[in-house]
Amino acid sequence: MSEIHKFIFEGLPVRGAVVRLTDAWVEILRRRASNTTHGAYPLPVQALLGEMTAAAVLMQSNIKFNGSLILQVFGDGPVKLAVVEVQSDFAVRATATVNGEVSADATLSQMVNVGNEGRCAITLDPQDRQPGQQPYQGVVPLFGDDKEKLEKFSDVLQHYMLQSEQLDTTLVLAADDKVAAGLLIQRLPMSGTGNLAGNTHSADEDQIGINEHYNRIAVLASSLKREELLTLDVETILHRLFWDESLLRFEPLQGEAGPHFSCTCNRDRVTRMIKGLGADEAHSILQELGQVEVGCDFCGTQYRFDTVDVAQIFRQPDELPPTSAAVQ
Ligand SMILES: [Zn+2]
Repeated sequence: MSEIHKFIFEGLPVRGAVVRLTDAWVEILRRRASNTTHGAYPLPVQALLGEMTAAAVLMQSNIKFNGSLILQVFGDGPVKLAVVEVQSDFAVRATATVNGEVSADATLSQMVNVGNEGRCAITLDPQDRQPGQQPYQGVVPLFGDDKEKLEKFSDVLQHYMLQSEQLDTTLVLAADDKVAAGLLIQRLPMSGTGNLAGNTHSADEDQIGINEHYNRIAVLASSLKREELLTLDVETILHRLFWDESLLRFEPLQGEAGPHFSCTCNRDRVTRMIKGLGADEAHSILQELGQVEVGCDFCGTQYRFDTVDVAQIFRQPDELPPTSAAVQ
């Protein structure tokens, strides 16, 4: 069962979360593997997409936000795009576009940052976004301060959190074909939050304490091995790392409240997309292939439009035809 465990360090301005995606992650991989057009991901791509999926769930669980969090890597190598979307209710979907050979031992830069032109984008798209309002987006390169290529995706996100949110963050991520998991530790911004209630130190003293405590906890968190993250349960992980710290745990989010696979595609959206192609283009596809077929890269659903469907789409230029099937 996929789960999120959130906690704070009692009396300290440091919070954390562990996510373990099992059924939700296996479902994402299963759908990809059964897609006859693409087939299963090469192993390094699977690992990258799994780490991104765990990270996106951690980030969504870490903010108060009603809408979708979209984590994307735009690659300049054989992996052109990797994208994960997480809704506020932890509905998750993910996909990657592979357009070339990925060797079994390919590094992050060999997949998405060959010419150091790869980018990582984080988008927050609010549920109640007004027409014309742009979603918030932050973009970071896949290199460090000295333009050196980063080889761990967690390093890319740590950079992002520091640059855009000004938050010290420690991330450990790992994924295989059964589990996508992550640990996040973050220093809370300044004093005055509920976590510091009762703390009578001055702001300056707080600042010193904050860094000291955060640094100690970050070192502990960083000692977590990839193998441990993949194979141990959450209780064991937290006990091994933080047995000497005082953790305040929140109710885990699991089952229906936890991360689960779900795709937001539907026939309406595909209809609008075909409309966007224009009548000429749609009819030329019809002539060539006998139907217009659009597959969802996230869930594998195939949407098919025959001559009658296409005629209906372009019959009423200002109105959408009624949907014949709403596929979730
Ligand atoms: Zn879909």
